[in-house]
Amino acid sequence: MAYDTEKQVALKAAIAAAKLCQQVRQEITPEAIQKHDRSPVTTADFGSQALICQALAAAFPSDAVVGEEDAATLRQDDMSQQLAQVTQYVQVIAPTATPDQVVDWIDHGNGQVSSRYWTLDPIDGTKGFLRGDQYAVALALVEEGDVKVGVLACPALEMGGQHGVVLVAVRGQGTELLTLEGTPIKSVQVAKPEDTTRLRFVESVESGHGDQSQQSAVAKAVGITANSIRMDSQAKYAAVAMGEAVLYLRLPSPKSPDYQEKIWDHAAGVLVVEEAGGQVTDMHGKSLDFATSDRMIENRGVVVSNGTIHDTVLKALAVSS
Ligand code: AMP
Ligand code: MG
Repeated sequence: MAYDTEKQVALKAAIAAAKLCQQVRQEITPEAIQKHDRSPVTTADFGSQALICQALAAAFPSDAVVGEEDAATLRQDDMSQQLAQVTQYVQVIAPTATPDQVVDWIDHGNGQVSSRYWTLDPIDGTKGFLRGDQYAVALALVEEGDVKVGVLACPALEMGGQHGVVLVAVRGQGTELLTLEGTPIKSVQVAKPEDTTRLRFVESVESGHGDQSQQSAVAKAVGITANSIRMDSQAKYAAVAMGEAVLYLRLPSPKSPDYQEKIWDHAAGVLVVEEAGGQVTDMHGKSLDFATSDRMIENRGVVVSNGTIHDTVLKALAVSS
């Protein structure tokens, strides 16, 4: 099957990274370091990126990796304790890893968007991770701007009878649900329109990552009367792909109307939903742009649906904007 090696490598790496994240959350109270944009990063973010980049570099040495994190902070002299802690967690899976290798692996994720590249969010929803809520390890392969392989590992997600959810999608081959151990369970599909019990929508926990009042108004306009399910990270894409919700709205927050969405926050989720039968566009109906840069400069907001309600949602949005 096409992309089988890519799928297997990506799955194995994301599952190993998810294990590292779980272990960090179980064993220590992860301390957040503040990045320049004041968003948090932890030992688990660094460890997850190191493991996944190491696996990708070994299997696909000429592929670029565009990851969220870099090791500049960890390379500072006063960060040696933090680096030692990251290394210790990486060693659980890669026993011979050294601190020098760990920072080099993390920085392998500083690649550029090109004709074929991987994009990685080692922990999407770091705020959720720190709060004890949802987070996801998100990894995608993009060729000529088209997502070909996507993996979402959501260790804290209880859905579809699973405690911890892994979803993998390959373009043209559907979306598959696996356990956190990597055992395949079944293929998943979005909710059918007649299944009114699934008529729910998901949105961010962080109010600053969206426009919650417009999101509620649009959901109501398309006939969704239930309150939203608020969830951190691309676990929201998982909820739509698995048919637990019909809609995920992410409209620009009035506090940051010019925010440009980042490719690693969406690429894996987009394929997982599309291959489960759903649809993803920006709020104006444009496809998300994974061909240009690490930011989706030409897109505003994100609308994720089961497909059947997509046009109705876009029309309701056009009226309410
Ligand atoms: P979520 O958990 O869905 O709220 O999304 C988490 C992601 O939101 C992070 O990975 C950030 O990249 C992204 N983010 C940060 N600031 C904003 C913002 N102002 N609007 C939308 N997304 C944001
Ligand atoms: Mg993220």
